[in-house]
Parts: sequence; C-alpha cells; structure tokens
Amino acid sequence: MANTTADIEALLMQRSLTDPELLAVAETAADYRILPDATVIKIGGQSVIDRGRSAVYPLVEEIVAVRKNHQLLIGTGAGTRARHLYSIAAGLGLPAGVLSQLGASVADQNAAMLGQLLAKHGISNVSDAGLSAVPLYLAEVNAVIFSGMPPYNLWMRPAPEGVIPPYRTDAGCFLLAEQFGCKAMIFVKDEDGLFTANPKTDKSAKFIPKISVDEMKARGLHDSILEFPMLDLLKAAKHVREAQVINGLVAGNLTRALNGEHVGTLITAS
Ligand code: ADP
Ligand code: MG
Repeated sequence: MANTTADIEALLMQRSLTDPELLAVAETAADYRILPDATVIKIGGQSVIDRGRSAVYPLVEEIVAVRKNHQLLIGTGAGTRARHLYSIAAGLGLPAGVLSQLGASVADQNAAMLGQLLAKHGISNVSDAGLSAVPLYLAEVNAVIFSGMPPYNLWMRPAPEGVIPPYRTDAGCFLLAEQFGCKAMIFVKDEDGLFTANPKTDKSAKFIPKISVDEMKARGLHDSILEFPMLDLLKAAKHVREAQVINGLVAGNLTRALNGEHVGTLITAS
C-alpha cells in the first residue's frame, strides 16, 4: 500500500478533517470487518410484525432453525403505531427529533415482543448499550435481536421538508450492517421485492429482480420499498454493497436468502 500510517497521521495533524487529500489517503487505510460472518435481517414493522401471529410465528420458526448455520443480527421495524404517533406529533407541531424518539419507542416494542417469542431458544433482545455484547450473543447462540431505529433521537437530521424522520429502521439496520462489516443485509417485507410501482395499489406493477441504486433513482423508484436515504447509504457503503428485499410471508424465503439464493430483489450499490 502506498500510504503508511505515518502519512495519514501527518495529514491528520496538519489539515482540515475534510481536506480532500486527507480524505483520499484515509480511504486507502485497511478496512476491518468487525462481524464478517453475520447477516443483518430487518423484520418489517408494518409489512410483517403488524400482521401479528400469522406472519410472525412462521418467521420465528425459520429463524430458530436457520441460526444453526448463520449468524443473525435481527433488527425490527416500527410500522403502523409509529405512523399513528407521527401523525399526532406532527399535528402538534413537534419536530423531527421528537418524532424520531417516538418512532424508536415503537421499534423497541417490536424488538421486545420478538425477544419474548425467541427467549426459550436463548435468543435475547439487546438495547442501546447492549449492542456492545453482540459478539458474545453471537458466539453463544448465533443470533441477537435489536431495535431497528438508529439512535439519533433529538439529533435526527431533519429532511428538507416536513417532520418525518428520514433515517428510520431500514437505515438503522443497514448502518449497523455496514459499520460491523457484515456479510449481507436482508430486508424482510411483505412483497416479493421491488416492482415498477407499488403492487398494493397498481395491479399492473412488474417485478424487478435486480437493480442498481442509480437505476432505481432514474426510474423514480427511490421512494418505494426502502426509505429513500437508504439508497445513498448503500451507494457509499464500503462493505455491504448490495441488499436483498424478500417476501417474508413466503415460507423458506429467509432461509434461501441467507443461503445466498436470489429470492427477492437485489439492490446493488453500483
Ligand atoms: P416496513 O414494514 O419494513 O417498514 P414498508 O411497509 O415501509 O416496510 O415498505 C414495504 C411496502 O412498500 C410494501 O408493502 C409495498 O406496499 C410498498 N411499496 C411501495 N412502492 C413499492 C414498489 N415499487 N415495489 C414494492 N413495494 C412497494
Ligand atoms: Mg417502512
């Protein structure tokens, strides 16, 4: 490698921390994958957990079976209760940072419920500080549950318009996957993947098996099955360069996706 630690250190000491040369050199530094064998799966809030038993029980069974061969970081979405809170809070004139805290409390509730269902299998729900114990949980039982909302809370960077927090549970789960240098990111939702339009409202919508971030934006699909800031996070990612969106209502899909099969839509960084 051309640049040594000494080069980076010299630049860091002398330059602005956003200096282009400094950034270029820092970019060449080796990347350490913290949890390279783990996969982050996000269980949708509105799309899966809000459906209750019929959707959640089969997934729980699948998780219990599949964790024998895969390390799983299981993040939860928020869903309809969060949307209800957002509408009340927005009506009260409250800001994005407050809505972010409210949304997080709902993702916490979903993580708590999933944690109780998986408790007898030794799989725990960890919160905030508990994330530091993730390696231990993975080493012991190959799986752990976390609440998907990123903990920006009051410090949530607001969107240019409106008070809905732009970084919600899709982004929260993906950021964890990327920071930990995980093997893969799977979004478990209630449609087969991405379509040319919302399949719930447009019967002529066509399935798209694979698409890049740029193509998604060009086709006006940036605000569809994933939170739109997710696309830029994926594009800028170093480790997790694709994410698969799968239909968690179809038995076996999660297992197949974890085994590396293409069962939904692959969204690629480039
Ligand atoms: P989560 O439960 O993870 O928050 P969402 O409900 O926010 O998931 O997102 C999944 C939903 O996105 C699907 O149920 C679908 O109705 C909707 N959706 C909107 N546009 C599209 C599209 N182009 N392709 C697929 N799904 C779409
Ligand atoms: Mg959503």
